[in-house]
Amino acid sequence: MDQSLTDELEAAIRAIPDYPKPGIVFRDISTLLQNARAFRRACDALVHPYIGIGLDQVAGIEARGFILGGAIAHQLTSGFVPIRKKGKLPGKKVSIAYSLEYGVDEMEMHSDALNPGDKVLLVDDLIATGGTAEAAVKLLKDIGADVVAACFVIDLPDLGGRRKIEALGVPVRTLIEFEGD
Ligand code: AMP
Repeated sequence: MDQSLTDELEAAIRAIPDYPKPGIVFRDISTLLQNARAFRRACDALVHPYIGIGLDQVAGIEARGFILGGAIAHQLTSGFVPIRKKGKLPGKKVSIAYSLEYGVDEMEMHSDALNPGDKVLLVDDLIATGGTAEAAVKLLKDIGADVVAACFVIDLPDLGGRRKIEALGVPVRTLIEFEGD
C-alpha cells in the first residue's frame, strides 16, 4: 500500500478510547469522511482493483458501509444494495442471524435485490472479528451472488476477521491496519 495514503488515512481517522465501552478504541471514520481529499483517496484506492471487471452490484453494510459503498458504486457504475439491520426494509426479505459479543442480531436484504450470478463487491468501514461481514457474505451467497471481494478501509488484524472471510473463498482488501481492538 502507498505509504502516503496510509499516513493520510491514519491522520484522518479519529481514535476514541473507551467507546462504546471501556477497553474498546473506536475508529471513527466521520473525520475521514469530512476530509474531502482523504475521502476521495480512500474511495479511489478501494475501487482500483475492481475497475473494468464488470461488477453488477456493490453491497454495503448498515450504516457506514452505505456511505462508502454508495461512493464506490458510483465510481464503478454499478448498482448499490443495502444490507440492513432487522426490521428496516419494506419488501420481501431474506435474513440471517449472527453473533455479537453479547447475544445475537439479524441482518436483512431484499430477496429480489440481486440476480443469481451477479458479481458483488461487499463494503464496510472496518473489519474486526469478521462476524458482521461473514454473515453478509453468507446472505449474499444464499441468494446466489458471486461475491467477488470484500473491502474495508480499516482492518483490526489482531481480531482475525480477514481469515474468516477468506475461508469463505472471498478475497479481502483493506487500506490500513490498527493494532489491538
Ligand atoms: P466485526 O463483526 O467484529 O468484524 O465488527 C465489524 C462491525 O462493527 C463494522 O460494521 C464496524 O463498523 C463495527 N466496529 C467493530 N469494531 C469497531 C471499532 N473498534 N471501531 C469502529 N467500528 C467498529
